Amino acid sequence: MTQPQPAPRRRPRKQIPTPIQLGVRPSVLLVRGLFIRCPACGGRHVFRNWFAMVERCPTCTLKFERVEGHWIGSLGLNSTVIFGAMLVVLLGGSIAFYPDVPLGPLLVAELTLALVGPLVFFPPSRTLWTGIDLLMRPLEPGEIDPRFVVVDPYRDRPAAT
Ligand SMILES: [Zn+2]
Repeated sequence: MTQPQPAPRRRPRKQIPTPIQLGVRPSVLLVRGLFIRCPACGGRHVFRNWFAMVERCPTCTLKFERVEGHWIGSLGLNSTVIFGAMLVVLLGGSIAFYPDVPLGPLLVAELTLALVGPLVFFPPSRTLWTGIDLLMRPLEPGEIDPRFVVVDPYRDRPAAT
C-alpha cells in the first residue's frame, strides 16, 4: 500500500551573493562605487554630466535604478556622509581652537559644507549606493551582460557549500 505523495514543490532557487556571481571581493563593489564607476563591472561613463546618470551601464548593461525608489538610498547615504563630515568639522574645529573657538569661520565652513557637499558627493553617492544595494540584493539573472558573470545561478551549479 502506497502513501499518497505530496505534490512536488518547486524549491526556491538559492540566491548567490553578487560578489560571488561577479568573482570579486565585496569591497571591490564599494570602491568602484566610491570612484564613480559601475560597481558591477568597474566601467566608466556612468554619468552624462555631474547630475545626470545614464540609465544603464554602457559596459555591462546593469540598470542602475534596480527597483522603483532605488535612489532614496543614495539620498540617505549622501545626507549621512555630509552630516558626518559636518560633525567632524564642528568637533575638530572646536577641539583644535579651544577655548577660543572661532564661531564665524566655523559657521562659514559648516554652511559651505552643507550647501556644496551634497552636490559634490552626488555622483559617488549614487554609484556607491548601487554597490551597497548589490551587496544586499544579489544580481538577478539577466540583470547584466552574462559575460561579466562568473557564477550564474541558472547557468552554473553553485559551488559546494
Ligand atoms: Zn557595468
